Amino acid sequence: MTEKKALVVLSGGQDSTTCLFWAIGEFGKENVAAVGFDYGQRHMAELECAAKICGDLRVRFEVISTPIINELSANSLTRADIPVEKEKPEDAPPNSFVEGRNLLFLSYAAIYAKTHGMTELVTGVCETDFSGYPDCRDIFVKSLNVTLNLAMDYRFVIHTPLMWLDKADTWALADKLGVLDIIKKETLTCYNGVKGDGCGDCPACFLRRRGFDEYMKRKGNSDV
Ligand code: ZN
Repeated sequence: MTEKKALVVLSGGQDSTTCLFWAIGEFGKENVAAVGFDYGQRHMAELECAAKICGDLRVRFEVISTPIINELSANSLTRADIPVEKEKPEDAPPNSFVEGRNLLFLSYAAIYAKTHGMTELVTGVCETDFSGYPDCRDIFVKSLNVTLNLAMDYRFVIHTPLMWLDKADTWALADKLGVLDIIKKETLTCYNGVKGDGCGDCPACFLRRRGFDEYMKRKGNSDV
């Protein structure tokens, strides 16, 4: 049996980087590659984090350029003239939401993967912290999996190791994989582009911090 080859959709943030290490554990480093997307996001620092992490690991990393996403979409991640909201509106996704982003990322990743003989796609999408992102839902990923297989007549399997984890569980997974420190220091989640612990003031920093504190509390309790 030939070994399965996996492609990780990597943004350089906490979630997708944790998925990268999960994939390495699952499929073996020699069978893992990663792709990132340059869609005109405000902070290229994210992709620099992704490139550095892959460079340190000697995992192949390629950046796919998709500026069209920026051209079509108006949101605070891609447009400097739209400020990042501190709190998300109650009945709508936050204004950092890029419509259809995961649909496009996974589709581009699938084309790349098939071209390189890879069947396993790995993404850090998560329904638990669902902030109104419809293309982070499990049902969407399952639907897209079927669609991609039909579209390309190929047997992709989309893996979503974080789908049912909350932020504290994601830190726990990083710890279990032995990479808590790397995730904490080398990834960028902050909407204001500050690596590691971030600016401390945006919704992404708030969620990351809250999850970390929650995990530390759980861990502390179980150590006693
Ligand atoms: Zn921040």
